[in-house]
Amino acid sequence: MIDQQKILVVDDESINRNTLSKLLEDSYEILLAKNGVQALKRLADNPSIDLILLDVMMPEMDGYEVLRQIKQSDQNTNIPVIFITSKNSPEDEEKGLKLGAIDYINKPFHPIIVKLRLENHLRSVRQRKLLEVMVGYDGLTEIANRRKFDEALYKEWLQSRRAGSLLSLAMIDVDFFKKFNDNHGHAEGDIALKVTAKSLAGTIQRPADLVARYGGEEFVLLLPDTDAIGATLIAERACAAIESQKIIHGFSEASDFVTVSIGGVTLTATDAPPESIIKIADKYLYRAKEEGRNRVIWGGSEIIM
Ligand code: GH3
Ligand code: MG
Ligand code: MG
Repeated sequence: MIDQQKILVVDDESINRNTLSKLLEDSYEILLAKNGVQALKRLADNPSIDLILLDVMMPEMDGYEVLRQIKQSDQNTNIPVIFITSKNSPEDEEKGLKLGAIDYINKPFHPIIVKLRLENHLRSVRQRKLLEVMVGYDGLTEIANRRKFDEALYKEWLQSRRAGSLLSLAMIDVDFFKKFNDNHGHAEGDIALKVTAKSLAGTIQRPADLVARYGGEEFVLLLPDTDAIGATLIAERACAAIESQKIIHGFSEASDFVTVSIGGVTLTATDAPPESIIKIADKYLYRAKEEGRNRVIWGGSEIIM
């Protein structure tokens, strides 16, 4: 089943926020923001927002400025923004569309029309997302996505079980990334994720090795036919490579720079499903976090049930 699509409604007047939520809440998940700063924060905390309904006239930061800031981040360029405003002149509408809004709805609005227009835009969003997933690549970091990883893991799990060969898996999670986003902004967060992905991709060597974005600020390295010594070496290299990018963090207890924690395991697949390998790697990732972050903890020889 496809998840419910998420809409961010930004309006300084509570009556407008309420009316729009009531109108849409049966069909979509609704997030609310009452000003520009809050809108940008909601967006940073919810990278999967599908569409934004944006008021223009708001104190401090108007809708045009909010849109400008949204469009600064690569990750957000695909999120459709619809102005919904009482600034109804053709010049206002032209300005909004030129800034990159996908649509412009005048207030007072007609509820049914708003709903139908949203449905049209959200259909395109769903199709684009589906396409991205099918192609197997993550739109932001341009490395493999979760789906591609799941397929590769299954294939390598079969191979390891059949041949009794070793399989290594590392789970990687950016340290204190919420604080990074909160303090540097979502656009900088996206750049940090891209750099992280690139550094990770640079540490793998064999054609069968795979680096993928597992979700959010989490990555995985899948290393078939690789023993614990070799895999740990690669993980240590990845960990060091990311810190050496020297992306100033400023709010991390682990380092002055953006860093990752890595948990990994080397095993021979048994009848236990592939997901159990992820679970074990996750356990060591948790330990790497607990022991101070910016480090690799690799599991010993594991028997999985
Ligand atoms: P820890 O060191 O324990 O891992 O803490 P953390 O803050 O990194 O972990 P947490 O899971 O609390 O926060 C993850 C953050 O990652 C929150 C979310 O906003 C951010 N994030 C997830 N995906 C993206 C993305 O695509 N772009 C940006 N900029 N941020 C993202
Ligand atoms: Mg995380
Ligand atoms: Mg994290």
